Amino acid sequence: MTSEHGFNAQVRRSFDKAAALTDHAPELLEQIRECNSVYHITFPIKRDDGSIETIEAWRAEHSHHKLPTKGGIRYSSLVNEDEVMALAALMTYKCAIVEVPFGGAKGGIKIDRREFSEAELERITRRYTFELLRKNFIGPGVDVPAPDYGTSSREMSWIVDTYMTLTGGELNALGCVTGKPIAQGGIRGRTEATGKGVYYGIREACALAEDMKALGLEPGIDGKRVIVQGLGNVGYHAAKYLQEAGAVLVALAEYEGAISDPKGLDLEQVMAHRQETGSILGFKGAEDIADSKRALELDCDILVPAALENQINSDNAARLKAKIVAEAANGPTSADADEILSRSGVMVIPDTFLNAGGVTVSYFEWAKNLSHLRFGRMEKRHEEQARRRVLEALGEKTSKPFSEEQLKELSHGAGEEDLVHSGLEETMCVAYEQMRSTRAEHEDKTDLRTAAFINAIDKIAVCYADLGIFP
Ligand code: GLU
Repeated sequence: MTSEHGFNAQVRRSFDKAAALTDHAPELLEQIRECNSVYHITFPIKRDDGSIETIEAWRAEHSHHKLPTKGGIRYSSLVNEDEVMALAALMTYKCAIVEVPFGGAKGGIKIDRREFSEAELERITRRYTFELLRKNFIGPGVDVPAPDYGTSSREMSWIVDTYMTLTGGELNALGCVTGKPIAQGGIRGRTEATGKGVYYGIREACALAEDMKALGLEPGIDGKRVIVQGLGNVGYHAAKYLQEAGAVLVALAEYEGAISDPKGLDLEQVMAHRQETGSILGFKGAEDIADSKRALELDCDILVPAALENQINSDNAARLKAKIVAEAANGPTSADADEILSRSGVMVIPDTFLNAGGVTVSYFEWAKNLSHLRFGRMEKRHEEQARRRVLEALGEKTSKPFSEEQLKELSHGAGEEDLVHSGLEETMCVAYEQMRSTRAEHEDKTDLRTAAFINAIDKIAVCYADLGIFP
């Protein structure tokens, strides 16, 4: 299913463009680029009405340079082998860019989840897990799935339960999947992690006055006009944090249509309206746009595609008015569109960096599962007590004692959620800086995506350096 125009070919084009700017041996570059293994399965499932349906599914492991491999599982009627291979490759580069010690993988089940009952989805998920286990495509040290398009903590809880039932007594079994509910070994802050990471990434990009000036924009998020495509977990949380930071949501797009209001849309009210009516259309004071994709072409500063791949392509790229395209989704911009945007001076903040918050917090969850200890549990109270002693001494020395309320606030020790958010913010800031400095090393002739790919290639190449199998 790999074609020149397929998704996987698009990813390879981005890779090749960056690879040409490195001095690694061609054999090594090829090894990094190729997908290591793809498992294609079909299995029968009994529907609630007694009929039998054949389900098609995949798991692609792109790179074993680090183990386990890592990446989500998507449930979509559009899933195919080319797509999971491309998404698995993106996971490899993404993990390298944010220094998360995993190879890349991705799974997919070709179903429209809205056409299946909860019980049917559970049967499909459990059977899929069984099939993965049978071929050694899942395990805390092998390959660790996570939520993706069409899946959530509910599916992850079925996966971990099936895995634990089948393996029985494996000490690190909880680390076989991430994005789990908290009660089943999940971590606080995972649900919003990708969207929050998107926000941190955009904030970093917008903070640099020099870069903003080149785009004719003021630094900062406050007042920036933003369009978000996709209000799933990633799009919703990205929009939420951007709005909280003062951005104006001038349009929101979903598959049923889009709405726009140059004065700004209140995200929570739009979500409540959608919950009530089943659609974002008809929101008070907003204009309805029946052809959802048209919304991408409206006037704005930042366009955040947070839905599926190939939303910005050679058909619409030249019509975009955004100065910044912030890729919250995986592969939303085709390689041709990327060139068009680059020529017209649009800043593209690439997916391999921008949506890496999800896998970063998955890494924290996996590490928590392996350590069998919640982050912050050992030191939180100790930290609080030490700080309180300093504050009390300070109050005594200055004869201006702090109130109990102030003491409480100022001595607050970090709990799991605080640490997760802090680790995520640090990761995104460092990765942005690395990407920007690589761009600068190439005299700003290259774009951020290519810079991110160069960083990924260099980091992966190091893992092969001492093997002696490449020149
Ligand atoms: N599905 C998410 C992604 O595409 C998260 C993957 C993970 O946490 O392993 O990055």
